Amino acid sequence: MARTVALLVAAGSGSRAGGDTPKQYRAIAGRPLLAHALDHLVHPRIDAVQVVIGAGQEAAYRAAIGERPLPSPVIGGATRQQSVRNGLSALGGATRVLIHDAARPFLPAAVIDRLLDALDGKDGAVPTLPQVDSLATRAGAPVPREDFVRVQTPQAFRFDAIAAAHAAWSGGDATDDAQVARAAGYDVAMVEGDPALDKLTYEADFLRAEAALLTTRVGFGFDVHALGPGRELWLGGVRIPHDRGLVGHSDADVVLHALTDAILGALAAGDIGDHFPPSDARWRGADSGLFLDHARELVARADGRIAHVDVTIICEAPRIGPYRDAMRERIAGLLRLDMARISIKATTTERLGFAGRGEGIAAQAVATLLIGDRR
Ligand code: MG
Repeated sequence: MARTVALLVAAGSGSRAGGDTPKQYRAIAGRPLLAHALDHLVHPRIDAVQVVIGAGQEAAYRAAIGERPLPSPVIGGATRQQSVRNGLSALGGATRVLIHDAARPFLPAAVIDRLLDALDGKDGAVPTLPQVDSLATRAGAPVPREDFVRVQTPQAFRFDAIAAAHAAWSGGDATDDAQVARAAGYDVAMVEGDPALDKLTYEADFLRAEAALLTTRVGFGFDVHALGPGRELWLGGVRIPHDRGLVGHSDADVVLHALTDAILGALAAGDIGDHFPPSDARWRGADSGLFLDHARELVARADGRIAHVDVTIICEAPRIGPYRDAMRERIAGLLRLDMARISIKATTTERLGFAGRGEGIAAQAVATLLIGDRR
């Protein structure tokens, strides 16, 4: 009975993309690279996954894998090749192994199928793509690109073949496992790779990968409260001196209410009344900043982020202009965004309707979110 194990090498300690976090633990669309890589190894023909991590990365590893049921990680060595060797030595009972790098997390299931199909007649199989750019030597001499392919991972092998090849290897640090297998005389096939498997190395690679994972969503919110005597006027989380205030169960801040509803709308998560029922005494006189903070938290839990919010306040008085930046600053703080992503506008209704008669204040809001694509 064939037992196929994926050996996921995630032992690197550095990051050419910048920052102190090794790139396998860097978050893309709310989840570490390692978590994306693990989720893409869930495949009916893979029986188990073994991760190789760097020394001292145990805590980051546990945080990254969450509840995924995995065996204890193997600690890697000073080089990738040593890390692979350490991993192979932990794979008791494997008959086939897919050796993969966490820096190529977005593995299509079809590539796994092509690799394992190829193993039926070969000792190993690697995914490759044609070289599309022109090639030249550093001296400028042209090189026929038809002679070259780009080699990706995972690389699939009969377990006994690759284990023997690594044991026999004496050629220094190999660039990949196919090189080690071929040096030992094993037959390694090439199958079609996939651009989705391109290695994430530089900052731009991470930004591109995240953009591909995120979906744009827009939500809309609207709220009205009546103006009445004996109340403080709160708009956009800012207290504004006025002869009357907005009447409501909470502080009746129409701006924060409309904004909260816009974010909930983008999440398709109901409305503010579902989350904070007016019948609940806890929200009597509440600072509406609580509601907006809750909406922000829901976005974070959905692996998303808020790209931009835009509010229009509709009232005859007070004048909004003098308080606009204070509102933007308060909302930026609540949403943990730069002020440049917060827009506050105001208009009158030319004395028409309830707003024009000064009976109440309305607010409309739009929120643009980027939401991760949860598998
Ligand atoms: Mg309201």
